[in-house]
Parts: sequence; C-alpha cells; structure tokens
Amino acid sequence: MSHRSRTRSGEIHQRAQQLTPGGVHSNVRLAGPRICFERGEGARLYDVDGNEYVDYLLGQGPNLLGHASAVVNDAVAREARRGSVFGAQHVLENAAGEVFLDTIGWADRVRFGLTGTESDQAALRLARAATGRTRFVRFEGTYHGWLDNVLATTVDGVTAPGSVGQLAHHLDDTYFIPYNNPEVLRETLSAHDDIAAIIVEPVMCNSAAIQPKDGFLAEIRRLCDQHGIVLIFDEVITGFRVALGGAVERYGVTPDLAVYGKAMAGGWPVSALAGTAELMDQLTEGVVHAGTFNSSIPACAAVIATLGLLRDDPPYGRIEAHGSKLIEGIRELGAAHQVPLRSQGLPMAFHVSFGEPELVHDHAGTAGFDQSRYADLTRTLFEHGVWVAPRGIWYVSAAHGEDELTTVLERLDAALTAEA
Ligand code: PMP
Repeated sequence: MSHRSRTRSGEIHQRAQQLTPGGVHSNVRLAGPRICFERGEGARLYDVDGNEYVDYLLGQGPNLLGHASAVVNDAVAREARRGSVFGAQHVLENAAGEVFLDTIGWADRVRFGLTGTESDQAALRLARAATGRTRFVRFEGTYHGWLDNVLATTVDGVTAPGSVGQLAHHLDDTYFIPYNNPEVLRETLSAHDDIAAIIVEPVMCNSAAIQPKDGFLAEIRRLCDQHGIVLIFDEVITGFRVALGGAVERYGVTPDLAVYGKAMAGGWPVSALAGTAELMDQLTEGVVHAGTFNSSIPACAAVIATLGLLRDDPPYGRIEAHGSKLIEGIRELGAAHQVPLRSQGLPMAFHVSFGEPELVHDHAGTAGFDQSRYADLTRTLFEHGVWVAPRGIWYVSAAHGEDELTTVLERLDAALTAEA
C-alpha cells in the first residue's frame, strides 16, 4: 500500500519556509519529511491530505498514553478555566508535587519546569553549588539538551560542539568517556578531583538505546559516594516509560538528582528536577532556577491526570509485550529480506538500524551502523504510512494494540520490498 498525495502538506511547507527557518520549529525536524499533521488519536496520526500513519515516534516520546488522551486533555481544559500562571502558587501545585514524588518514590523535593534542557541545567548548577567543584563527567553519545555547555557530538572518539556558533571551550568543563566502561570511569575519577557531577542517561536512548551492563549504574553510584560526586540521572526519556518509577525502579539504583520530562504529562510541556532535600533546598540558598511558565495550571493538571492514569491502570506490561513482539517481528522481516536490520533496547524504547553488530555497549560501537540506509528506509516507511524517527529510536505507547502491530509489520514488509 502506498500513500495518497501530500499536496496540501507540500503547500503548507512552502509557506512555512517563509515563516520559520526550514519550515520547522526544532532543528531535529529538519531531517523529517515535508509533512503537516492535522491530528493524532491513540497510536495513529492523520495528515492534512487525509493520510493515516501508525506512529512509533510519539512526538519524540511524550505520548506514552497515545495521542490526545481524553482524560488528560479534559483535565487540562477544565482546570485552565481558572487561568494559567499567576506569578505565585496555586491550588494544584501540591497535588502535582505529591503525586509526582509519590510515583518516583525516591526523592524528597521536586521543581517543575518546561523542558528537559532547562531542568538538566538546574541539576548541573546545583551539583556545582553543592560540591564547590567545576567539572562534569558524562558519556559519549548522550544528549542533555541543546545549550552551549551540553550539546556535543562524538565521532571516532573525538567530542566536539554539536552546533555552529557554539564555542569549543564550552565543553572544556566536561570529561566525555565511554558508557559501560567502569575501568575508564574509575581512572577518570582518580585522575581528577574537580568533578561535581556524573550525569547519565540510565539507558542511552540517544545512542542506540544502549542499556547499562549489569552493575554499571551501581558502580557509578558507588564511585559517586566514594568521591563525593553528585549523581544525576537524566530520565527525560526513561522516566515513567521504562517503569512507573523510571530507570531508578527498573535498575534499582538511586541518584542524588534526576531530571524528568517527556512522558510525565500526556504530551503537555512539563519537565521536573527531583532530588534529595539537602541538594534541592539549595534553591532557597542562592542557587537560581526560575521560569515564568513553571508549574502552570495546565501543566499541573496534565501531571496529575497523567500520573493518575499510569498509577491506576499501569500499561507497562502491555507496552512491554507489544514492544517485544514488534522487535521480534522486525528481526524476522530483516532475516526474510536478507538485510542486516538490527535492533536493541527495551521494548518500550528501542533502536533500529542497519549494520553490525547485533548488540553494542557504547557509542563507539555504533560506528558500524549504516545510518543513511536506515534514514532512507524511514522515508520509505513514511510513504507506507509509518511514522518513525530517521535516527532509529522507536517508542511504544499504551494505545498500541494488535491492530498497530499487524499494520506496522505489513507496512515494514512492503517498505523493505520497495527498498530492495
Ligand atoms: N535529556 C534527554 C535524555 C533527552 O532525550 C532530551 C530530549 N530528547 C533532553 C534531555 C532535552 O529535553 P527537551 O527536548 O525537553 O529540552
């Protein structure tokens, strides 16, 4: 099945290019096709030309409940009748804070924000303030937002700024090391006494959805305690997705600070910084974190409704079963078409690409992937009504059912046939 015309999307894109650079409001979208969606419903998207897509991108992760959850959106609409922001506290904040802290289960305090990028900044600043040290350790291939001190790309073991206009010295305060390598981590920490924090994506969803090897996160925890370093989990993708309690629950390791975003609010723009009282209360002692729109009424309503749904009827078993079958189906289709289609990660957030090896443990391991061939496949998939990211990550939601599973595998089969 190939799709119908996208004339209206094309026209809208033409106009958009005159309004915003490249016709997109986030650079990540420059890699995507010229599409204009009209609406999302559950696990499906519909474009302005009437084409339907089965969606495994989920807005880059936030739509864990599927698109347009009626429960969440009704709560937001109802509560927004009170207003949005007052430059002061309002009646939903405690309920949002309580359900949030109760759900993640390990932290004393939370501060709501809008994006993962900014909450990551607050975490890094708090770590410096708490330790009086300057530098950070992080792992090659991770993403912690688009700002100057964190945006980076690593090619052949060399890490450089990720953007034109970003100065190289912005990354001078960070030691980039390979993931899943406790020896290098130990050596780095022994060689430097200026490290304020280790920031880690507990599952490296921004690089092939690489999982921590057994004991790796626990070893990071142990070393942080030994060296007096703040451990920051960047749970922007993993939070509420890999388990209700995120990576903390799934891997049984507790950080000092963690950053959440994406899945916590049913598609609404909310992020959070959570942590121990000792660290977080420094926000009343000179460490600044601010934001006009933080903890708005719609944001709090979305958090309360989303976490309420996830707690009352946890979808994780269903999501995991769906994702596992899908990964299996993708592998089988790769074998049937005799193409080196590979996949790794967790069933709720996994990575697909062409190439070898089947399983990688750090960013350097991804060098053998044929990313451009995979990006081409995603364009063909798009023609066949499948919406996935060119860079390889697939997300599964509570709204994905047997129908989507059958449909996506049929469409992938067709796309691989077309590719041959
Ligand atoms: N951290 C991680 C692990 C992410 O994946 C992202 C976004 N993909 C961010 C931080 C930044 O979040 P946001 O796009 O909401 O600023």
